Amino acid sequence: MSNENKSIHEFDFNLICEYYSSVERQGPGSPETTIKALSFIDNLTSKSHIADLGCGTGGQTIVLAQHLQGEITGVDLFPDFINQFNDNARLLNLQDRVKGITGSMDNLPFAEEEFDLIWSEGAIYNIGFERGLREWHKYLKTGGYVAVSEVSWFTNERPSEINNFWNDAYPEINTIPNKVTQMQNAGYIPVSVFIIPETCWTENFYAPQVFAQENFLKKYPDNETVKDFIENQRHEERLYNKYKEFYGYVFYIGKKI
Ligand code: SAM
Repeated sequence: MSNENKSIHEFDFNLICEYYSSVERQGPGSPETTIKALSFIDNLTSKSHIADLGCGTGGQTIVLAQHLQGEITGVDLFPDFINQFNDNARLLNLQDRVKGITGSMDNLPFAEEEFDLIWSEGAIYNIGFERGLREWHKYLKTGGYVAVSEVSWFTNERPSEINNFWNDAYPEINTIPNKVTQMQNAGYIPVSVFIIPETCWTENFYAPQVFAQENFLKKYPDNETVKDFIENQRHEERLYNKYKEFYGYVFYIGKKI
């Protein structure tokens, strides 16, 4: 397999964590998109419990905390992200109701029906969309919500270059109607579905990485893994710019029946 087609999972995780710690978002998204998705969720109060799974350093968690009153628990596999998450919460004086814990989204330390809302931006792919929706269902109260963003096809057909790239990186990529059916079959009423704007990729995700990439290459000038990783990121960005009418991130919001 050429390096350009290497999955992100094959690179050294510590290097990836260090790289992504230097940018605010670890996936495509924006404060406006988080707030829009939140607008479809009702019945949240200061007593509500919210989980943000695959929270990263917490870019979207902080936005959530600033727009709702309940308690938020962020979960991420990587301790460095969680340390940064908790530092950010303290800096913003949100530490009393925003807490990050290290853990895996496929083995959560939660009780059944503990949450009013489960959030996950650009992260459910780690467990798989269908599996995540099914397994997380039990942690929600009846009438609670799940809100996840997930890479999805916008069309039934697409050029083979991008089709092969994504089928290799994430074989569960699917069209929006098929994802909605999966959500319904997992026990949720699909409440809202919307495509997140292109600027969430170009301005919020890729643009800050230009600087991060230059810094990273300067810091590790002789490291082949770093060079491969950066080339991989740039390749993914080039593909996005070339084929963005065929795919993107979609927010899926469902209500537990
Ligand atoms: N939600 C953040 C955002 O939108 O900026 C981060 C998205 S990033 C693309 C995916 C996140 O999932 C990373 O922070 C990664 O560490 C985390 N992750 C990967 N596998 C995980 C697992 N099994 N359990 C929890 N988090 C995981």
